[in-house]
Amino acid sequence: MPKNAVSAGQRTEEFRSEGLYGSDAFTLMCNHCSCKVSYERRDTVLKHVKGEKHTSIAESINSAKRKKADIEHLELRTEVFSKANIHLEKLENTDIQN
Ligand SMILES: [Zn+2]
Repeated sequence: MPKNAVSAGQRTEEFRSEGLYGSDAFTLMCNHCSCKVSYERRDTVLKHVKGEKHTSIAESINSAKRKKADIEHLELRTEVFSKANIHLEKLENTDIQN
């Protein structure tokens, strides 16, 4: 490995939030795209995470996570109202009713 070379682990630390992980010291994988990403050059990694395929999959995953969180919050709120014996249809606030 050349003196200034970067390991797959170092790229993993930098791009973990983008869905990248090192399967070993010399392999960087994309969890979203299920593909191997060349980690030696930062520009190459950036090009991958900003690419159409990766961003499209990442947006879909984030959208699904937001919907799941919304459903969990709704279930929690509904449970709280139910435990308090408050009927949702009787609430005056239409945002809460909806
Ligand atoms: Zn990707």
